Amino acid sequence: MAPKYHPTPLSGGDRKALAKELGKARAMANMLAAQSSEMRAKGEAMIQQADRLLCESWNERMWSDGEPIDPSPTIDQAVNGGFPWLEIRCARCKTPSDVDLAAMKHPPTTFVHDLASRLRCRKCAKAGRRPSATLLQLTGQPRHPRTEA
Ligand SMILES: [Zn+2]
Repeated sequence: MAPKYHPTPLSGGDRKALAKELGKARAMANMLAAQSSEMRAKGEAMIQQADRLLCESWNERMWSDGEPIDPSPTIDQAVNGGFPWLEIRCARCKTPSDVDLAAMKHPPTTFVHDLASRLRCRKCAKAGRRPSATLLQLTGQPRHPRTEA
């Protein structure tokens, strides 16, 4: 892109003044951009904190009463908040397992509680059953050894 053209003023004083104004504007552009990224980083850190609190709140509700599962964080809120794993238990055979939320094919805006009816127990599926999953906790790490498929 060609640099922006500023018509050169006729008087020397005006030329000096223009050069000064251009210098100021360029410095201002850099300063405002730096402020913007600083503010954005702060905002992102606060969103991350909010996501973490939302997950912790849901975990407390699941631990104390186990319901209602709705409202719950979305997949991306859970991942962003540091809880990328969902601990579940099969409602029928009680086998516990961990779901890697980051690896799910569902859109990241999917709510965690909407997964209850979509996650299927492999053991029961083999037996031709499709029980729903009981949602237990959002966690930072998987808690159970990988169950054989
Ligand atoms: Zn099962």
